[in-house]
Amino acid sequence: MATTISESNKLTFTGYFRNIYEAFYTCGKGMWITFKYVWAHKPVTIEYPEVKEVLPEKARMRLFNDAENCISCTQCALSCPVDCIYIASKPRPKGEEVPKTTNGSPIRQILTQYTIDTALCCYCGLCTTVCPTECLTHSHDYEYSQYSLSGMKVDYLNDDVRAWRERIVKE
Ligand code: SF4
Ligand code: SF4
Repeated sequence: MATTISESNKLTFTGYFRNIYEAFYTCGKGMWITFKYVWAHKPVTIEYPEVKEVLPEKARMRLFNDAENCISCTQCALSCPVDCIYIASKPRPKGEEVPKTTNGSPIRQILTQYTIDTALCCYCGLCTTVCPTECLTHSHDYEYSQYSLSGMKVDYLNDDVRAWRERIVKE
């Protein structure tokens, strides 16, 4: 009986120091992981808006329709899964010279409305993929928040939008 008590005390004594060792070991291990990220890894944050994110080449941000090259074929609107592209056009008067897009497609219809509700857009890219004249593209502009949902409707025949395109192209 006396031997059993002594062994029990010995185990407790050993366990005490083992606990201290494990506490230091796990603490050191955790701090090692922390310092590894502090010293060995570059920061993943940037000081936006002073520093802008560099996007991948194929990033799909704000849509832009270079309306002068649009032939009103409506393929973009038909392919859109959320129906957020609104197009209207009228036939060109008989006898009027038919202009061409930069890739040589005849512009037979006169575009009278080209609006995209970017609040509905899911940036799937289908509309840009089917566009035969490649006038509809995703820009790299991601700074177009608005105070109202109606502000997210973009009229691509509006001069302000064209000015916005010039700003993006220059950057
Ligand atoms: S990116 Fe997709 S959701 Fe947005 S307008 Fe184009 S087809 Fe529609
Ligand atoms: S697919 Fe291209 S050319 Fe056809 S209506 Fe849409 S933007 Fe215009």
